Amino acid sequence: MNAKSKLRSEELTHLAKEFYKYKIKYLEEHSNKSIINYNKQKLLEYFQASEEDWRNWEWQMKNRVNTTDVLKNIFNMSVDSIANIEKVSSVYRWSVTPYYLSQIRLASNSDPFFLQVIPSICELETWGSNDPMGENSTNPAGAITRRYPDRAIINITNSCPSYCRHCQRRRNIGTYDFDTSISKINDSILYIKQHPEIRDVLVTGGDALTLSDEALDKILWQLNQIPSIEIIRIGTRTPVTLPQRITPQLVKILETYSPIYINTQFNHPLEVTEEASLACKMLVDAGIVMGNQMVFLKNVNNNLYTVQLLNPLLLENRIRPYYIFHPKNIIGTHHFYISVSQGLEIVKGLRGNTSGLAIPTYVYNSENGNGKIPLSPECLAAEEDEECIYIETWEGKKITINKK
Ligand code: SF4
Repeated sequence: MNAKSKLRSEELTHLAKEFYKYKIKYLEEHSNKSIINYNKQKLLEYFQASEEDWRNWEWQMKNRVNTTDVLKNIFNMSVDSIANIEKVSSVYRWSVTPYYLSQIRLASNSDPFFLQVIPSICELETWGSNDPMGENSTNPAGAITRRYPDRAIINITNSCPSYCRHCQRRRNIGTYDFDTSISKINDSILYIKQHPEIRDVLVTGGDALTLSDEALDKILWQLNQIPSIEIIRIGTRTPVTLPQRITPQLVKILETYSPIYINTQFNHPLEVTEEASLACKMLVDAGIVMGNQMVFLKNVNNNLYTVQLLNPLLLENRIRPYYIFHPKNIIGTHHFYISVSQGLEIVKGLRGNTSGLAIPTYVYNSENGNGKIPLSPECLAAEEDEECIYIETWEGKKITINKK
């Protein structure tokens, strides 16, 4: 090795040092399952259930936790914390699968699982609006949302295994679960048939995979019969919040309607559990293409190392980090909001420090159904004159590119 290469190699090792320390700490935390196993045993005792029940997605759905009784039983929580949860419950519904609940290591807002599914008193702030993306005005028929020329969304249910506290569709959660009526589904299918320019349909909700295998099969079959439909995408967080839902029977159904794309939402590396990895493996092995749509969430993932750890972990599981969403100004979610400049700073920090494959597109979902706008540090950093454009490398070094 010549002296120059040696120097550069040392420089790069030095740059990797801090993140590597963080990664080792994470791996230790990830491998320590004692709290999770304890939580699981307490939950099994509480529900008088078996290991077999735990592995059954319908059992998990039926026993979603939505009262503070269970929290009091499992976690050491203060009277005030419990009272706050009850106060928020009277305004916004909450629900969490026993599986996802068992992953909470600390019943406080410093825990990424707790923060994402347990109601916070901050939800009662009145900042924001109910439907900033104007989804209610982009619904031309049945349960369709249409924002782009060649694709459309069908919302087939309002139900989810766990109700994420940052949800952009929290206005649809309401007070009870319901699947979209057959007549609305039929109207949606008819609309897609009448618009052959639509070639890509996203089946979502709520969470599309909360439907029974039979109901889902029927919808996918109908879509598959439309000659202009080239691909079907499914929006689901079940690999994260209810990995038990990914059964061999479900995979077989999905395989029938290839090409199927599944977009999910891992927001923190600790969510990539053994169960979640296995669920994703079953899907990918069956030829289903998986993408991840992370949402920037304050105190969950608004720091470079968390994202730098999550994305390669997803790639290892053959999930493409597809988007990072800028949080929306949804009422009740102000405590998750971060600034665009902080988001850009994190995305900029990924460059060079991890491979391009692990850098998703950072997008801002614009108001009133105007669609996604990619946000990139380059857009802001680039300067130009008649001759040249001046850009920065990932290390902040200035590079000049001749325009001609
Ligand atoms: S799974 Fe998706 S739709 Fe359901 S609550 Fe979470 S973010 Fe909202």
